[in-house]
Amino acid sequence: MLQVDDLTQKLLDLDEDSLKAQLGIIAQKIATDPTAPSASLESLDEALSATPRGGIPDRTDVNFGDRLFRSLNIKSYNLMCSELFDDLEIQAQLQTAFKESLAKAAGLLTPVLATQLGLALPIAAIVASLIIKTISSATAETICEIWKQKLVIEPCSLINQIDNDPAQRRALEEVGTRGTFTLQDAPGCSTAVVRLLDKQLIEEMNKIEPNCLISFAELNVDMGEGVHPFLQLPAQKALARAISDRGQKLTINSAYRTIAQQQFLFTRGSDCGYDRVAQPGYSQHESGLAMDIQDPEGWSSFLENYGWYWPAYGNDPWHFEYQGSDKQDIIGTAVLAFQRLWNRHNPNEQIDEDGAFGPVTEEKLNKSPVEGF
Ligand SMILES: [Zn+2]
Repeated sequence: MLQVDDLTQKLLDLDEDSLKAQLGIIAQKIATDPTAPSASLESLDEALSATPRGGIPDRTDVNFGDRLFRSLNIKSYNLMCSELFDDLEIQAQLQTAFKESLAKAAGLLTPVLATQLGLALPIAAIVASLIIKTISSATAETICEIWKQKLVIEPCSLINQIDNDPAQRRALEEVGTRGTFTLQDAPGCSTAVVRLLDKQLIEEMNKIEPNCLISFAELNVDMGEGVHPFLQLPAQKALARAISDRGQKLTINSAYRTIAQQQFLFTRGSDCGYDRVAQPGYSQHESGLAMDIQDPEGWSSFLENYGWYWPAYGNDPWHFEYQGSDKQDIIGTAVLAFQRLWNRHNPNEQIDEDGAFGPVTEEKLNKSPVEGF
């Protein structure tokens, strides 16, 4: 019988790039066939034994695994370290195991991540090992403090700054976009360029799953014209209570982000300073569970009373996430909405309506008109 700790020890012996490459390879295999034998820990163990040590991993696999790890790392951190996580016993066990042996800590974390984040076991094992590996060299009081210092956070504040920049908007107006640009070749760095496609996507999502996104525009809020004022219903209700408790206007810089915006940010990458942007499907903003606000210190206690969590990430202190137990995963709905929209307007270029963001969906999204279909 395979011992998880033995497996995590093997994983910890690999360097970070090799681990990320393994993560990328396995995630792609499981995405194409969830029932594949690669979805078991035994097969991961075999794959590790078969791979010669010291080889240079493929760059594409490393990059894919790196992006996947960044988003899963944040989700794992929020799961284990947020004040809303009520299983303090597991947190304490992890803390103790971490001091005893790194393989044991990664072995303990593996089933927790698999169950709580719905990950396949080999993916959970690699992510757990990568987490433990990245934080193993640091020294701080608690595991959560070290972990937080090592997180690589998507630069919401940079995105919001560019999106709300009047010069970016003027440039777009001068260029004009109607009928001219696809998401791939649209000019500039502001996601405002895809605004009309965004509107169609949000409407389509609410057709598939009525009220999966609810507007908060009627609440006592102030926001820029680039903000899509949508959240999941429980998050919106929680926000309404917090605003009413404080009795003040809340200024919001960003809330819902469509997969078109996320893909736009992702493809612009370092040309626009978006070095750490996640691929569609991995940002909390796309789930209708995140917002970036002004005066985070002032609002934190009011929001935290109702299930909103303030991670206060170093370079992104404006970002809040809703973590109530009534939240849903609506990423699949967001992807399905695009697939249905695309098929309706492209009868000769039909794609699968499976709600999964694969290479075909990505290619069609890149080819979509920014002013909508
Ligand atoms: Zn944010």
